[in-house]
Amino acid sequence: MASIAFVQHDITARVPEMTDPTSTVEVPLTIRVDPLTGHSSRIVSGTKLAPLARPDLTELTAPPAFCPFCAATIDAATGTFDPSITAEGRIRRGSAVIVPNLMAYSEFSSVGLYDTASHFLDLPELTPGRVGDLLAAFAAYTRGVNGLRPLWSSVNANYLPSSGSSLIHPHAQSAHDGIGTTVQRNLVGLSRAWQGTESYWDALIAQEEGGDRWIGRRGRVAVLTPWAPIGFHEVWAVVEGARDITELTEEDCADLGIALSTVFQSYYSWNLTAFNWALYGGGPTPSERYSVLLRVVSRANPDAVYRSDVTYFERLHAEAVIDLAPEAVAAEIRPRFA
Ligand SMILES: [Zn+2]
Repeated sequence: MASIAFVQHDITARVPEMTDPTSTVEVPLTIRVDPLTGHSSRIVSGTKLAPLARPDLTELTAPPAFCPFCAATIDAATGTFDPSITAEGRIRRGSAVIVPNLMAYSEFSSVGLYDTASHFLDLPELTPGRVGDLLAAFAAYTRGVNGLRPLWSSVNANYLPSSGSSLIHPHAQSAHDGIGTTVQRNLVGLSRAWQGTESYWDALIAQEEGGDRWIGRRGRVAVLTPWAPIGFHEVWAVVEGARDITELTEEDCADLGIALSTVFQSYYSWNLTAFNWALYGGGPTPSERYSVLLRVVSRANPDAVYRSDVTYFERLHAEAVIDLAPEAVAAEIRPRFA
């Protein structure tokens, strides 16, 4: 018997017909409930919001007079880590570099570049190697910070201004403190409280493997789309047996790099441009019941006059309204990951 119940509510809305507003048509709507968190998502039909073309990024991404993250300036424009955290000063893995973050949004924070050699990397250039190296460098920094004391850790990324990024040079950021974030505390707390002989994450993967939302597996990294997304084109990578970012191996990071890069190639093929991703660590007292989760969503394209993809539904109700079912997203990414 399946141990996780995927609950969905099917609703029928009656709306005016577009071509003849004097008559009404019935439109199906599905509200899905996340089995772990209880949050609900609305899968709507009919309104496809996918962009028909990619915006021209030439002007937006042109090298500026000064960028702190380009190879020629990074050593002068950024600091080095305290030796109590790492003896490396700046942490370099392949093309990736991690340096202390100027923005204080956490007790410890770092910023990492996929590559300093190019000021801008479009989605196809965020290769498995570049992404994997970046994650390996963040894992090394997280282990360094955790050497001071165990903390809540996450690694997160904006990309282009429409996703919240203030700098164009592609980068990601880490956060480490004693509090964690709302979503992170919920994920770990609810995983700990999950009633089941095996962990929620083990049960989820066992149940989803080979199904409509399954994308594939590499090593300990299982890739799938979520039953009830919180964002557009959302994809998950779950690292089985890794309770915290500190436990990610070089191989895990390489496999996560392949997964994330595959998603970026798919986004590119759908005329998407921007994204956010988050890698949620398991907190200062990691539980066997939690597995590290990497979640990636697409964001609105940085058109000159763009409509935000975050409406009152997402911002104030914490409820995503999705127009492409998770099963359709998985079906398109699966062959690229194989
Ligand atoms: Zn730059």
